[in-house]
Amino acid sequence: MMSPALLFLLFLLMADLSVSVPVNNEYQNNELVGDSEVVPRPKANLQNIVLHGDIAEPNTLSRNADPCTAKGCKWPKSGHYVYVPYFISANYSEEERNIIIRGLQSFHLSTCIRLVPWKSGDVDYIYIESKDGCWSYLGRQIGGQYISLEKRGCLYHSTVQHEVLHALGFNHEQVRSDRDNYVWVHFENIKPGREHAFEKKQTNNLGTPYDFTSVMEYPNDAFSKNGKPTIVAKCNPNYKFGNAKEMSANDIFRINKLYDCQFPVLKRSASRSYGP
Ligand SMILES: [Zn+2]
Repeated sequence: MMSPALLFLLFLLMADLSVSVPVNNEYQNNELVGDSEVVPRPKANLQNIVLHGDIAEPNTLSRNADPCTAKGCKWPKSGHYVYVPYFISANYSEEERNIIIRGLQSFHLSTCIRLVPWKSGDVDYIYIESKDGCWSYLGRQIGGQYISLEKRGCLYHSTVQHEVLHALGFNHEQVRSDRDNYVWVHFENIKPGREHAFEKKQTNNLGTPYDFTSVMEYPNDAFSKNGKPTIVAKCNPNYKFGNAKEMSANDIFRINKLYDCQFPVLKRSASRSYGP
């Protein structure tokens, strides 16, 4: 005879299974079984990219966030929403998938971005896979694009949001066009070869101030070769920043502004930040 506590535990386990996110069954040992049309194949050629920090750029093109968002790298809007199809590699465990899905769905709470499962016929989409490190393309690429979330080191809520923000067209905070008003960048402390991750871009700042709490801000000692800071806040040289656990109010505001999200589609959590 099972004790009530054990029965309850069993119930919880079964309840948990019943609400778990369905795993993709089209793969087996990374081999496709069945219909070869059911898995997208991003056109982005991985042999031909340059990684700038964690931003993948096609070798032949050098694009910044907002210059490209003005020239077609924004995701299209359909009605009130901007649908971004995604496909998650079957190589993640269910627990890992759930971290990723939670990160994707966080955009639904406060923006008009809707990450939706890829379906046959979707041409532009993100393909999330555990490659070497955490990285993303900047803005929408034609024909599908990767976001790499390596199992070891990238499966955090903030990292999922960060890489998706790149795919939506956002650059790092410290490369903003007006960053010199807010931070000093100490190139003498940066690891050789990593300087490009700190080069200023002609970003469209969408009327928002520099935000040290942005999930797109690097930590003070990012890519430091000697333990000394690479980015220092002018307002307070001792200020420690760049470890945001989730998108800031500014990150959310910028998405809504860039994509012209209409407030009635936003849910409760957003209306708290943005008034009625
Ligand atoms: Zn980044």
